[in-house]
Amino acid sequence: MSFAELGLSDKVQQAVAAAGYTEPTPIQAQAIPHVLARRDVLGIAQTGTGKTAAFTLPMLTMLEHGRARARMPRTLILEPTRELAAQVEDNFDKYGINHKLSVALLIGGVSFGDQDAKITRGVDVLIATPGRLLDHFERGKLLLTGVELLVIDEADRMLDMGFIPDIERIVKLVPFTRQTLFFSATMPPEIQRLADAFLHNPVKVEVARAATAAATITQRLVATGREDWQKRETLRGLIRNATDLQNAVVFCNRKRDVAVLHRSLQKHGFDAVALHGDMDQHARMAALDSFRSGEMPILVASDVAARGLDIPTVSHVFNYDVPHHAEDYVHRIGRTGRAGRAGQAFTLVSPGDEKSLAAIEKLITTPVEWEGPTLADLPPSERSSRRSGRGEERSSRGRKVKVRTGRQRSGGDQAQDEAAPAREAPAPQPEQPARKPRPERERPERDRSAARGNSGRSRRDDDDAPVKGMGDHVPAFLMRPVTIKKS
Ligand code: AMP
Repeated sequence: MSFAELGLSDKVQQAVAAAGYTEPTPIQAQAIPHVLARRDVLGIAQTGTGKTAAFTLPMLTMLEHGRARARMPRTLILEPTRELAAQVEDNFDKYGINHKLSVALLIGGVSFGDQDAKITRGVDVLIATPGRLLDHFERGKLLLTGVELLVIDEADRMLDMGFIPDIERIVKLVPFTRQTLFFSATMPPEIQRLADAFLHNPVKVEVARAATAAATITQRLVATGREDWQKRETLRGLIRNATDLQNAVVFCNRKRDVAVLHRSLQKHGFDAVALHGDMDQHARMAALDSFRSGEMPILVASDVAARGLDIPTVSHVFNYDVPHHAEDYVHRIGRTGRAGRAGQAFTLVSPGDEKSLAAIEKLITTPVEWEGPTLADLPPSERSSRRSGRGEERSSRGRKVKVRTGRQRSGGDQAQDEAAPAREAPAPQPEQPARKPRPERERPERDRSAARGNSGRSRRDDDDAPVKGMGDHVPAFLMRPVTIKKS
């Protein structure tokens, strides 16, 4: 199938040719004709499938007729994160080179003034994160009654980020007669309920089930001790050993671990940048730019921060933590192996991760191979908190260490993770002669199921659930036998 057969305008086809695309991706081929026929579309597709163009290209075609009115955007695209919203804007710039459309971006971290001025002049396309959109609406600067087409993108991520009440409110503010395009990588029951509520007689378009990882990705599990320093050490070994490493995304489950791991990698001489929810917009964009340009080949990120980012060629993905949600595994490793390229995905697995790993293997319907020993084979020293051979990099499961990325500092791996406090016990200081074994501690269950929220899925990218009372801790005085005196 060619772009010419989809019904797109000449201007759009020229822009697509200028972008270098020769044929539509499956989601584009399936969705675009229905969007142009003004049907509601339920698109089940991950990022990396070309889904952004699946809605921007027909939108550009449709917007060639009619014009924008002051404060009344003609179309509205909702995105869960600022980066994704900015990426959609980039798509409009790229595919809209032959159009004179006005596109406005309403995201947090940017002044209201400029955004207001643009809306007041009238916009054809409004791209927004839900919170900032409602802020503008409440300030009385925005009317949503002229919206002809509404796009809800990354709906499952909206759910994860707790945006569904905002989305439900926004949908009530746009005309009932609008056309709606609804995209989600997965369809859990809550998302299906929303799709049923928001869409009228939709066409369902599904490409590459969320549970299907690209066949070009080599996936491996790497057994490691559960202590943070053990995991960091294993990760460094993997990065140094990696074959053909061009650039890598390292995923952590919690944003605080992103910051700690980032500092640790830097200390060990790796050119790494971090991306997490606590960084301001400017810092996030700067980090992404340096990663995209190749200046910083390692990006340490949380799921939410990295979701959907368009990073064209990632050779490696490292899961520093096994993700709590199996579908996140598919999203993470989907950063590599794109568009038929080869990719490698390594997942660090520690004692206590068995349940999450089983859920992943169930979702992808295949066991992932171990790189070297399995958890059961792990020597007792690696299960405990003792350091395995000081100053000596574990050679990723027996292979010879070959440093590909990261400058070896003087002292090399003996440069301890002084910047990186361990999660459960303070890391010993670098001047200590040796790390003392720390008592093995069962990771509390709340650690793994933290911050799931009411629906059992809602979470932000910090899994720091508030601890009730004393949590799992039972003070020693409560454990002492009590002798009750007879009066
Ligand atoms: P997305 O899934 O929208 O994040 O797109 C993933 C990547 O695919 C982006 O880098 C797009 O520029 C690229 N892309 C989109 N459509 C096509 C196409 N028809 N042919 C080749 N690349 C495409």
